[in-house]
Amino acid sequence: MKILVPVKRVLDYNVKARVKADGTGVDLANVKMSINPFDEIAVEEAVKLKEAGKATEIVVVSIGPAQAQDTIRAAMAMGADRGILVETTEAIDLGGIEPLHVAKILQKIIGEEAPNLVIMGKQSIDDDSNQTGQMLAALLGWPQATFASKVVLGDGSAEVTREIDGGLETLKVSLPAIITTDLRLNTPRYAALPNIMKAKSKPLANKKIEEFGIDTTPRLKIVSVAEPEKRKGGIKVETVDALVDKLKNEAKVI
Ligand code: AMP
Repeated sequence: MKILVPVKRVLDYNVKARVKADGTGVDLANVKMSINPFDEIAVEEAVKLKEAGKATEIVVVSIGPAQAQDTIRAAMAMGADRGILVETTEAIDLGGIEPLHVAKILQKIIGEEAPNLVIMGKQSIDDDSNQTGQMLAALLGWPQATFASKVVLGDGSAEVTREIDGGLETLKVSLPAIITTDLRLNTPRYAALPNIMKAKSKPLANKKIEEFGIDTTPRLKIVSVAEPEKRKGGIKVETVDALVDKLKNEAKVI
């Protein structure tokens, strides 16, 4: 059983995003970048399946700048066996390499690698698209189980519990399939120093995006990017009457 895990390099979730002065996007100069948190969960799940003897090989793929190598190495330090970097000089965000482009590249890699299962994040925390897994499943004609909070691998199938608005839903999908991870699927491990060192010598293939012959013309145009409105400081009221008065006369919500 081979598992393929796509991992994206994104602005670290602890970093406060700064909008570029010209309002065209988020300023990524000199800020910490990390593996997309949902992809880290995907890697953890794949490694757990390997440790349980249900998977034999984990291949991670990242489409991004040369520095996305670090993202792949981070996944290898957690336990992935091998990596593929698809290098691009374009931004890997809306207006650059978009989910459809990523899905088409992954489709080609999957054609070559023939994994039995793809585990990926439900969304990237930079563009919050939540599209790539679904598009990839459609392009491949594979079943998909999105927003997974539990995965049980059977013989030729997987039982996936999904987080949906009304609670939990359990699906059975035949393999090969696409699974996308939700937050509660697992808690990713910290990579131990010896594993970080070991990851440096694991195989990493370097490809260029041009090799895939994908039309990467942006389908979307960013009109503007703006910071959310600054929240005004709150106040404490002494009585319920004062609260009701404010809600009525100032906030005008009742
Ligand atoms: P999105 O549709 O952009 O919200 O991304 C959903 C998932 O697709 C991510 O969690 C990753 O697993 C995968 N993905 C998106 N963009 C990339 C990329 N540039 N390289 C590798 N995987 C990606």
